[in-house]
Amino acid sequence: MSDTNAYPTPQRLIFPADEIDHPWLQHAFNAYHLADVGVWKSIAEEERKGRKLACAKGCSNCCRSHTTIPLFPLELLGLYWFVSSKLDNEMRRRLKPQLENHQPGGACPFLLDGVCSVHPMRPLACRHFNVFGATCASGEDAFFTRREDVLTPIRSHQDAALEAMLPFHGITTTAAKRQAMQNGYLPKQAKVLQEIDWAHLAMRL
Ligand code: SF4
Ligand code: SF4
Repeated sequence: MSDTNAYPTPQRLIFPADEIDHPWLQHAFNAYHLADVGVWKSIAEEERKGRKLACAKGCSNCCRSHTTIPLFPLELLGLYWFVSSKLDNEMRRRLKPQLENHQPGGACPFLLDGVCSVHPMRPLACRHFNVFGATCASGEDAFFTRREDVLTPIRSHQDAALEAMLPFHGITTTAAKRQAMQNGYLPKQAKVLQEIDWAHLAMRL
C-alpha cells in the first residue's frame, strides 16, 4: 500500500490555495506527514537489518484482499476533496463507475489498473501497512499469514498522526487531546472504507 522507500525524506503535501479554502486540510496533511515520516524511519531501520521492502507501485493485492480498512472522518473528507477537485477528468470518468458499483466487502474502489488513484490522500491504515520479503499473494493478508513480515510502525508517530487530526474535531488543548487519545476518541469515529456508500461521491464526478 506504500511506495517503496528509496530513502528520500517524506514531504508534507502542499496545496496552498486549497488549504486557505479548506483550513481542515492542514490537519490531514500534518497527520499524513507524521505517519509517513514514522513509516520511513521504520523501513529504513528494517532495511539496515537486511530486510527488503516488498511493496512497490503496481503491487496491489492488499487493496483487493483487505476489506476492513478504517477511515477517520477527516480522511473521508480528504478523499472527497481529492477525488472531486484534484483528479483529472479521465481519472474521474474511470473512477465513477467503480464508486457507483462498489459493494461492501469488495476491493477498494479507489484502485485503478492496480494503482491507488488517491495515493497522496490514502488513509493512515494504507500508509502504515507495509510488507517485507515476498509480495503478498492474491487474497493473502500478510498480517495473519506472516505477521513477522509486516512492518510495525513507530507508536509515537502513529499517535502523533492521530493527535494531529483532533483539531478537526474541535479538540485543541493539550489536556483535551490527551484525554481523547486515552479514550480512543478517533477509533470510535472510524468507519470502514469498504462499507461506505461511495455512490454519493460518484454523484460529484
Ligand atoms: S507487498 Fe503486499 S502490502 Fe505491499 S503493496 Fe504488495 S500487496 Fe500491498
Ligand atoms: S486507498 Fe485503496 S487503492 Fe489506495 S492504497 Fe488504500 S486500499 Fe489501496
